[in-house]
Amino acid sequence: MPTTSTHPDVMEKLVSLCKRRGFIFQSSEIYGGTGSVWDYGPLGVELKRNLKDAWWRAMVYARDDIEGLDAAILMHPRTWEASGHLEGFTDPLVQCLGKCKRRWREDHVREEQLGAEDAEGEIVCPKCGGELTEPRQFNLMFKTHMGPVEESGTEVFLRPETAQGIFVNFKNVLSFARKKPPFGIAQIGKSFRNEITPGNFVFRMREFEQMEMEFFVPPDEAGRWHEHWMEQRMGWYTGLGIRPDHLRLREHGADELSHYSSATSDVEYLFPMGWSELEGVANRGDFDLTQHAKFSGEKLEYFDQSTGDRYVPYVIEPAAGVDRAMLAFMVDAYDVEEVEGRTRTVLRLHPRLAPNKAAVLPLVSKEGMPERAREVYESVKARMPAEFDEGGSIGKRYRRQDEIGTPWCITIDGETLEDGTVTLRDRDSLDQTRVPADDVAALLADRLAEPWTTPKLG
Ligand code: ATP
Repeated sequence: MPTTSTHPDVMEKLVSLCKRRGFIFQSSEIYGGTGSVWDYGPLGVELKRNLKDAWWRAMVYARDDIEGLDAAILMHPRTWEASGHLEGFTDPLVQCLGKCKRRWREDHVREEQLGAEDAEGEIVCPKCGGELTEPRQFNLMFKTHMGPVEESGTEVFLRPETAQGIFVNFKNVLSFARKKPPFGIAQIGKSFRNEITPGNFVFRMREFEQMEMEFFVPPDEAGRWHEHWMEQRMGWYTGLGIRPDHLRLREHGADELSHYSSATSDVEYLFPMGWSELEGVANRGDFDLTQHAKFSGEKLEYFDQSTGDRYVPYVIEPAAGVDRAMLAFMVDAYDVEEVEGRTRTVLRLHPRLAPNKAAVLPLVSKEGMPERAREVYESVKARMPAEFDEGGSIGKRYRRQDEIGTPWCITIDGETLEDGTVTLRDRDSLDQTRVPADDVAALLADRLAEPWTTPKLG
């Protein structure tokens, strides 16, 4: 298994590519930017949507036992008392007493300087070597007020995870979707965390998106379902092209477990900064439903009429980050190679994730080629996202499409006008084949439905 990312400087390269090609911009850039908040541009929003669609398809459409939900970001403040976030959703904050006065997460500094988050010993400011304050617990939830008066009773929080919106709707979905455990509720939505040390591009942000699914099971089946979901989630990433040797499952040690969890394994990806969490797959036991039942006074349990059994289901939760997954897919897809003495940068994204599936390019802007190309473009666009590009040399246009991960380029040239065929260029193999212009849209639609493995596996 590799221990370092293939291209160690890939993060810098990707940040620049993302800006240059319209994937990701710093938020409010014209005002100097907002710390660790990012905006998705025209291509970024497509990649992100494709990723979320792939998750939704795997979770909701491909199965009979999961329903979708879209709960509100602002929730009743008691939610966060019940969930333990008001009390326990904290990170240890230390501040530099030396020159730079920077703030750090104590556990991260300990890990970096002493080898483990809970290692004993002296730590210093990673930036200037200054002395650090004693740690204090800092709550990561953003506060705001509901209504026109800012009083203590009007305080609400921006949700730090989407999961709680699912737990408070457990009873609604159970009764209205006529489900019985094992069944799940899936949700994709924004979450907010006032992270002490955000960074690494979209890896750790203050506003981000999550894809979470809570799977409610009879307590004695929890272990089996935990295994099932770990396997499913690993398979989802590799099925969409992540190299298996850049992905691993890491089980949490007892001291690492969250307050609600009896077992958690992280799906980790080999990011340029090392192995880091991509997704957590937790066995949350009956913690959440029991807590919300206690705080709300509602019964949150399942009554099986056929057996007379009454129980609080256990919950298995695969919780993924959309932005973090997007970063992993881009890092994994990023490649630079020499072709005929020239360097080309290529994003080898799974075709189903790629923002554009095809680009239609008239070789030159004359002799009727643009008009014919427009016709081909319309037929392709009716079936999949595609782009029409007639500006600049053909080589430059190919390189641009490679860089944004477009799997296929269709070129309309002199031969097209003679025999009705076009050149179909493959992003990864660089093979060029001639196919009838009238068939190209159907041919690509078929290819899109086929399984795909990254050529980086060799
Ligand atoms: P970390 O240990 O990296 O802080 P976490 O264990 O607190 O993450 P969870 O609460 O398990 O994260 O959230 C589930 C997923 O949501 C994470 O695996 C990650 O993909 C994503 N996520 C969490 N925090 C952030 C963030 N600040 N920015 C981007 N994605 C995040």
